[in-house]
Amino acid sequence: MKIIVCIKQVPDTTEVKLDPKTGRLIRDGVPSIINPDDKNALEEALRIKDNNPNTTVTVISMGPPQADVAMREALAMGADEAILISGREFGGSDTWATSYIIATAIKKIPDFDIILCGRQAIDGDTAQVGPQIAEQLNIPQITYVQNLVVEGDKVIAQRQLEDGYAVVEAKMPVLLTAIKELNIPRYMTPAGIFNAYKQEVKIWGFADVPVDPEKIGLKGSPTNVNRTFSPEAKGQGIMLEGADRASVKKLVDCLDEKHLL
Ligand SMILES: Cc1cc2nc3c(=O)[nH]c(=O)nc-3n(C[C@H](O)[C@H](O)[C@H](O)COP(=O)(O)OP(=O)(O)OC[C@H]3O[C@@H](n4cnc5c(N)ncnc54)[C@H](O)[C@@H]3O)c2cc1C
Repeated sequence: MKIIVCIKQVPDTTEVKLDPKTGRLIRDGVPSIINPDDKNALEEALRIKDNNPNTTVTVISMGPPQADVAMREALAMGADEAILISGREFGGSDTWATSYIIATAIKKIPDFDIILCGRQAIDGDTAQVGPQIAEQLNIPQITYVQNLVVEGDKVIAQRQLEDGYAVVEAKMPVLLTAIKELNIPRYMTPAGIFNAYKQEVKIWGFADVPVDPEKIGLKGSPTNVNRTFSPEAKGQGIMLEGADRASVKKLVDCLDEKHLL
């Protein structure tokens, strides 16, 4: 079985701040990590491999050369192969152009069975890239996967809903998007880290991915970002304690004062 895992390197959002003047993320000095949902995607691929020894796991990412670190981490966790799509020509791509580039690269990997993505990246936060890759490749997709069984030529997945889950079956090749409930990602082992730095991370540049130049970068991106801003801080709330007449009167007086009654 051949599994492809799409991995995005993201800034650790617990460390990110917005520049109040430009509204842009201050990325300088912020550590980068593998997007958390993508680690669940990789863990699931590795578990399938643990149970099916003939499985190969390829991780693929589009990003700057610094994403090499994320690729090595994936190799150290147990991936067999790492491909980094990297080139100036790809810069400025929105989710549509990004998924077109990744899907075009995946077409170069013959006979894959499963593509695993995270549900959502913690920086861009759109949850669009996985489903768009499936559309570009014209294969079925199951999103929000919280449990997965591979059986013969199909997958049976529990798809998380707000108030429960749906059980969905699809024939392979299929694209799945993973959520954190799917599993607990394993740690890298010291031997894994050592080997990861002996392995090759393949770099696929513009010349290696047969994309239409009109469909990538800013030119090929239908999205325009007009403005980014952080929401204004709200005033402190008032806590009213007790369930007696006096508290109710206080509440009514407050609402009255603000002309809400
Ligand atoms: C006009 C415009 C210009 C932009 N220019 C740039 C730019 O120059 N440089 C830049 O870094 N970003 C740029 N972006 C942001 C970039 O388009 C998104 O970060 C990217 O498309 C992923 O979207 P997302 O973060 O919402 O991922 P989601 O859709 O939330 O991600 C879902 C899943 O898809 C997979 N995935 C997502 N992105 C990748 C990836 N790159 N490689 C592998 N797998 C992935 C992962 O499995 C992830 O969990 C730009 C966006 C816009 C709108």
